[in-house]
Amino acid sequence: MGERTEIIMDCEQCDRLLLDVRDAINTLAAGSYQIRLSGDRSGHFHEVAEALEHLAAVLGRKFEERAKIAELTQKINAGLIVEEVLDHVFDSFHSLLPYNRIGFALLEDEARILRSTWARSDGKELKIKEGYAAMMEGSSLQEIIETGRPRIINDLELYYERNPKSDSTRRILAEGIHSSLTCPLSPMGKPLGFIFFSSFDRNAYEDDHIELFLQIAGHLAVIMEKARLYQVLLEAQEQLENANRKLALLATMDGLTGIPNRRQFDAVFDTEWRRAVRGGLPLSLLLIDIDHFKKYNDTYGHQRGDDCLRDISSALYDAMLRASDFVARYGGEEFAAVLANTAHSDALHSADRLRKVVSTLDLEHKALGLKGRVSISIGLATITPGQSDTASALISAADRALYRAKREGRNRVCAMDIAPDND
Ligand code: GH3
Ligand code: MG
Ligand code: MG
Repeated sequence: MGERTEIIMDCEQCDRLLLDVRDAINTLAAGSYQIRLSGDRSGHFHEVAEALEHLAAVLGRKFEERAKIAELTQKINAGLIVEEVLDHVFDSFHSLLPYNRIGFALLEDEARILRSTWARSDGKELKIKEGYAAMMEGSSLQEIIETGRPRIINDLELYYERNPKSDSTRRILAEGIHSSLTCPLSPMGKPLGFIFFSSFDRNAYEDDHIELFLQIAGHLAVIMEKARLYQVLLEAQEQLENANRKLALLATMDGLTGIPNRRQFDAVFDTEWRRAVRGGLPLSLLLIDIDHFKKYNDTYGHQRGDDCLRDISSALYDAMLRASDFVARYGGEEFAAVLANTAHSDALHSADRLRKVVSTLDLEHKALGLKGRVSISIGLATITPGQSDTASALISAADRALYRAKREGRNRVCAMDIAPDND
């Protein structure tokens, strides 16, 4: 009754306080959380004023938390690098959580090892640096993973006394840390690592800090998942590129012999033809055909025929001397060689060298007699092409020369020089 009397008695003061309260509410409504109520308080008005100031403080804090989390989300959406986000957290959460150090560690080797991957501290020297690894077995962190709940240790010295084997506690104490708040990071429920907030002060953490901490951890988990998916994407892309490269290579290689195929021959021949026309350079073409290969197949079987084709292919391929010399499987038991910027006489030498290379393989061909050996015939044509010449004319000339080599007894080179100035 006494209090009531007091209020009724001091009506003027009561009006002033009511106006103060009204102003404070308007200030809050306008989004500002810095309110001041008159110092002249008494009775229930004192409680109202205190409750209002408390509301302002809570709202202010929640508003700031919201803004920081929104900023964090924005960072996460913009980037993929966990370290950048951690730097941002370290720089911008000081007003909301007590910490002097933040550490981040990832589980490795099927969650057997925990490795520190990032740490920042206000202190002088880090004793748990990037790369520091600890076994998970027997560690108290195992329990945090199992429960999924953050853990507060508010006196690490005491904790170390009870857990003297904990190397990481020894190190963190040496950094001057006395309290810690640890949270597991488990994007999509899969434990990937931990985030550690720690403070130089004892008793720095309260249960109240956990909610915000969980929000930060949740956001970090999102970016870790995002980074992991990005990595998976990069790896898939790399595999695809490798497969494409292989496919492109396969598309230009002959499947049986492993040397360039007809398709690549067409491309190379076309390029060299244009280059020869542009530069006024001699271009030599060799068409190479294995002699009596049908008989070889008939005698030794198709499989051995394939082996023989492979042997001759590699011998011809290895016998190409200049980087610009090119040989391909032209079809069946025929090959074609393009010798760019090679005059007729040099090409003739090269052709005869190839013929000898094959005869020195000394491949038995008993259908040709007791001492029968596999041989090749070569038709060579050279041209220094002018604008009016055609590439197909060079091919026909080499083909005619090959036909002549066959007719004249095989295992020989016949040549046609169709370059006008070499006639
Ligand atoms: P010539 O000396 O006149 O060239 O006689 P030839 O028997 O070599 O010529 P012909 O054109 O009559 O026969 C070519 C043979 O080459 C027939 C074919 O079965 C064989 N041949 C073509 N491609 C392959 C292949 O990939 N593997 C095997 N084993 N044989 C092949
Ligand atoms: Mg043939
Ligand atoms: Mg043949």
